[in-house]
Amino acid sequence: MELDSLYQQVILDHYKNPKHKNLNESYTAQVHHVNPSCGDEITLNIQVQAGKVAGISWDGVGCSISQASTSIMTELVLGKDIDSAFEILGEFTDLMQSKGTKSGDEEVLEDAVALAGVSKFPARIKCALLGWMAFKDAVLQSKDKLGE
Ligand code: ZN
Repeated sequence: MELDSLYQQVILDHYKNPKHKNLNESYTAQVHHVNPSCGDEITLNIQVQAGKVAGISWDGVGCSISQASTSIMTELVLGKDIDSAFEILGEFTDLMQSKGTKSGDEEVLEDAVALAGVSKFPARIKCALLGWMAFKDAVLQSKDKLGE
């Protein structure tokens, strides 16, 4: 898989120094998602408060794409209201389904644009989306629990 070297560096930085990778014990929902085709695993804790992502933390093992993408995602959604976080999720999902035709809006996706090239490799898209799907699942579970 060939990605732009600058983008490779961004992914490597997040892989080596992942953000919010330290499970916080207080959460409104905890989810565990796996990507069997690659062996990636993510446990994600999320704290939803007053319609916002008040806390997010995770632990996981797997390839650099899955781990870096999860790290990038946590930075993007922390502190955002759920609607804004889901808009970012939508943009990223759209980018991953673009088959290499889109480069992503850096204003919205920030470091996540580094993963744009992954969309050319169908086998790796699940790696990139794993943390994001876990986030979506965790938010929906939180909403159920909080009755929102
Ligand atoms: Zn993977």
